[in-house]
Amino acid sequence: MEIEKIKDEILKCRKCSLWKTRKNPVFGEGNINARIMLVGEAPGYNEDKTGVPFCGKAGKVLDELLGSVNIKREEVFISNILKCRTPNNRNPKEEEINACSPFLDKQIDIIKPSTICCLGNFATAYILEKFTLKDKIKGISRIHGQVFLHNSIFGKLIIIPFYHPAAAVYNPNMLDVLREDFKVLSNEKQG
Ligand code: URA
Repeated sequence: MEIEKIKDEILKCRKCSLWKTRKNPVFGEGNINARIMLVGEAPGYNEDKTGVPFCGKAGKVLDELLGSVNIKREEVFISNILKCRTPNNRNPKEEEINACSPFLDKQIDIIKPSTICCLGNFATAYILEKFTLKDKIKGISRIHGQVFLHNSIFGKLIIIPFYHPAAAVYNPNMLDVLREDFKVLSNEKQG
């Protein structure tokens, strides 16, 4: 299967130096027929240990947010811009994004989602630029919860930036903002 081929490539990848410090690349997880795709930044400590995306504290927040709009993890596809953890979870470098993003591009081509949820600044900037919406890029505090539209080669695409769920791990106010923003997905689910 095409998606399995990408997985093999990611497992063997040495296109940037992160392979030297990672334990496990995190390919992504979920339903390849999903209408909704979530894109995070990069694996953290727990994800690197297990190979599973969003399985640590930020993942618990994400599960709660999905649950709040009656979406099961199995219904969506969860991926990241970088497939390998950065040392001490530092921000991704441009050359790492350039090296790794073709994997995400291929995942998007296969899944053909109707909605992409961008989790945090890095995912938002990458996805908006990819889909010709570069002029809309602003800090996440200014565009979280907004709905952007793009006519992609696979149909109408909705792009929604969100704060990264990690921002809500120790901040209940942020959790409230995320919960409010996630409500927009109740509509997307029905299509
Ligand atoms: N943060 C991310 O951006 N992605 C993960 O998979 C986990 C934490």
